[in-house]
Amino acid sequence: MRPELQRPRGTQDVLPPHSWKVEGMRQLALAVARRYGFEPLETPIFEQSAVFLRVGENTDIVQHERYAFRDAGGVDLTLRPEGTAGAARAFIENGLAQQPQPVRLCYWGPMFRRERPEAGRFRQHTQFGAELYGSELPFADAEIILLATAVVEAAGLTDPVVRLNSIGCEVCRPRYRTALIEYYQGRRAELCEDCQVRLERNPLRLLDCKVDVAIRAEAPDIADFWCEACRTHYEAVRSLLERAGRTVRRDPRLVRGLDYYTRTVFEVGHPSLGESVALFGGGRYDGLMESLDGPKVPAVGFGMGIERLLSALEGRFVATPLTPVYVAHLPGFAEEAQLLAESLRRQGVAAEADLLGRSLKAQLKDASRRTRWVVLVGGREWESGQVVVRDLEQGSQETIPYDQLMQWMGIEAAQVPLSGRRWAAADQRQD
Ligand SMILES: [Zn+2]
Ligand SMILES: [Zn+2]
Repeated sequence: MRPELQRPRGTQDVLPPHSWKVEGMRQLALAVARRYGFEPLETPIFEQSAVFLRVGENTDIVQHERYAFRDAGGVDLTLRPEGTAGAARAFIENGLAQQPQPVRLCYWGPMFRRERPEAGRFRQHTQFGAELYGSELPFADAEIILLATAVVEAAGLTDPVVRLNSIGCEVCRPRYRTALIEYYQGRRAELCEDCQVRLERNPLRLLDCKVDVAIRAEAPDIADFWCEACRTHYEAVRSLLERAGRTVRRDPRLVRGLDYYTRTVFEVGHPSLGESVALFGGGRYDGLMESLDGPKVPAVGFGMGIERLLSALEGRFVATPLTPVYVAHLPGFAEEAQLLAESLRRQGVAAEADLLGRSLKAQLKDASRRTRWVVLVGGREWESGQVVVRDLEQGSQETIPYDQLMQWMGIEAAQVPLSGRRWAAADQRQD
């Protein structure tokens, strides 16, 4: 294939059967979110660029990884790199602040970042996220983390670890920032190139550095700077999570460099992935709405990358496989087979019949690759109102009246009509 006709670098085609896993994960995430009272939100996959610039001007994502373009009308647009900014924009624009609080929203969809291509990193990836608006209480932070970990656990990664920190508030964070700058300035000569820039622009991000680990180890800990309100908040989040059975570790390295973040930041990991590997993270951003000219509404949320989660799960998450019935036929019964398959579908059973004019032998070979049951149409059995049913899983075979077909397959008994004509008549009666 000519290079210009191939998919863009860093993207993927999600093919079956893996696509079933992705779809299964979507359904699972939404089902778990629903238990916590979260309702689905869909926003456009592109927003006016100002939305992301306001929210994350100093971040790598916005500075270097944005897919931005100007459309024919001269409007600056950006393919969304994450879900939080668009959700907040929608909250403000649709007046959700006037609705009963708190508002619980979740989303699922593609995000776009022009990351350096490497294994497991995609320039279009899928995120599931949740946003809880309108509550300042630490219970809200805990609820978001309980939801996030419940999704991970439901998918098969039992006993996730919550790494938790608080980055303080406008009262206590400036004092910490000052102490941090002082400390790092004293060791300026030792810092990596990135950290030289961070020291000027975004000192909290110094703690993120993967190079200057030894320097970080002796850096001041924000816990020593927390005000009383921030300490109480942190302890309340930790306490509820632990009493709910979650493993919580305080991680002083966890920070967010943006000003609208307040107090809680967290990451979710798992012992099977190693100490420092995070599946995803989230936190509280009480200043976010105001940074988009919205009302002062507290917010806490997370966004989880689905590709990363699925690869961490390896074989543990199995999407419900298709269990279709394959309706095979003897020569001369092709149309009957099609109609029996359609009749089964109308009763809620996934069923298919041959579309390639294959011999019975070839049909059975095809069926054996992906089918639970094979129903054989034709021959003497068919004339006497019966079908031969083979259970490929059990390795059993039986000749049964077709009105017992559904029962035999372990599905609610239902009438499986004899012929095309009868089938059509039965269908009309239902109407
Ligand atoms: Zn504080
Ligand atoms: Zn560094």
